[in-house]
Amino acid sequence: MDTYHEPARDIPVARDADVIVVGGGPAGLAAAVASARNGAETVLVEKFGYLGGTATASLMACINGFRNQVEPDATQTVRGIAEEIVLELKEMDGLGRSPYDQKEYPTEPGQLAYSYAIDTEKFKYVTMKMCVEAGVDLLLHTVFCDSIVQDGRVRGVIVENKSGRSALMGRVVVDASGDADVAARAGVPFWQTRHDEAPRLNDALMYRILFGSDRPEGTYRCDFSESAVVWGPGVEPIDGTNADELSAAEVEARLRVFDDFAKKQAEHPELADATVAETPPLLGIRQTRFVEGEYKLTAEDALEGRLFDDVVAISSCPIIHYYGYRRYLEHEGYDIPYGCLVPKDRDGLLVAGRCISSEQQPYESHRAMVPIMAIGQAAGTAAALCCLTGAQPRDLDGGRLQETLLADGAELRLPRTPEQDDS
Ligand SMILES: Cc1cc2nc3c(=O)[nH]c(=O)nc-3n(C[C@H](O)[C@H](O)[C@H](O)COP(=O)(O)OP(=O)(O)OC[C@H]3O[C@@H](n4cnc5c(N)ncnc54)[C@H](O)[C@@H]3O)c2cc1C
Repeated sequence: MDTYHEPARDIPVARDADVIVVGGGPAGLAAAVASARNGAETVLVEKFGYLGGTATASLMACINGFRNQVEPDATQTVRGIAEEIVLELKEMDGLGRSPYDQKEYPTEPGQLAYSYAIDTEKFKYVTMKMCVEAGVDLLLHTVFCDSIVQDGRVRGVIVENKSGRSALMGRVVVDASGDADVAARAGVPFWQTRHDEAPRLNDALMYRILFGSDRPEGTYRCDFSESAVVWGPGVEPIDGTNADELSAAEVEARLRVFDDFAKKQAEHPELADATVAETPPLLGIRQTRFVEGEYKLTAEDALEGRLFDDVVAISSCPIIHYYGYRRYLEHEGYDIPYGCLVPKDRDGLLVAGRCISSEQQPYESHRAMVPIMAIGQAAGTAAALCCLTGAQPRDLDGGRLQETLLADGAELRLPRTPEQDDS
């Protein structure tokens, strides 16, 4: 490949904050809110003009994972910021009918169902309002470009936006880009699961349909009475960190949308009056890089329901695809330990979201947006505590982190019962 030498130049320092969160998806927005609520001056960098990531920018209008979907499902395993969002959406009439066959719950604190269909516009509103109220400095329409690393420590990030190129300095950076962009650029080891090594689910372009004047019978995926979000064209799993593959997949999926809808209309004649109202800006990409962390979650951890002393979040979601079927957990969830959020080899950095240190199998459980928000809340809280105490993320007092998370309403199943301690 030909190369071009880009000359070095001085760039302005646009922010000097405590915590810089890169990515405003489910993980990043929860991280930013948690960090700011815990007293850290927090900047959230997001390339779109709103928050929600895959939930909104890819119209994945169904957030899963507050509890297991089958017996035993007595325990709600995620609370905290994710629960607050659902309760706010309920107040605004922003919840639709989830496509899952699940037990009914009253949608009250501690009484949430496994899954909720979300009105994506109201989700954008609620999450932005939450950030503003927490005092998060939202830097939107801004793309992360590079990590600033000095002496093995991430000191900030370089971004591009309409104002040009600038540096944002921070005492701790939280990589919630989904793709581990910050960690990769900072030289943290990472890996990707290739499709020929492990079965991966298709990436997919969702779209919203508007029903005609007569609302048809039946329930559709993420159903909001006058509209629904219907599963759209899938493409073979791609490398979402490769611009050429990303472009080719967008083109392929977008050119298939109207054929796809025509097929659905042929199968469901009652949709004759419905129309395609919206495709989202971004094809839904399920997974890219996984960061090498101080601990890597294993298949056994997830299947056996392992408990960790440094638990910071819980996933009770099924492993959706790896085993060739939707494999439900035979327990009420496994712990996500803090070590999965702490990258190897670099200080000043935490990771949150789908790129945490995990094997493929557990990833297919905790990648659901509800546990992802719990992981984000943990990362943001940890970042704020690092600023408060002067500790590096790997040296943070785990007990203090857990106490703070519990005080902020997170669910950690602590203190343990004697039976749990023995397991
Ligand atoms: C096809 C598909 C179906 C799914 N179905 C479900 C489902 O039914 N229920 C469920 O709960 N989950 C589902 N998921 C999984 C879930 O959506 C993701 O695992 C989850 O959104 C991951 O959250 P995240 O915050 O880690 O990353 P993301 O949602 O990917 O958010 C990352 C954010 O970072 C921003 N960003 C990335 N790079 C940069 C950069 N360089 N500069 C600035 N900003 C950047 C992005 O714009 C985005 O806002 C599905 C995912 C896909 C793709």
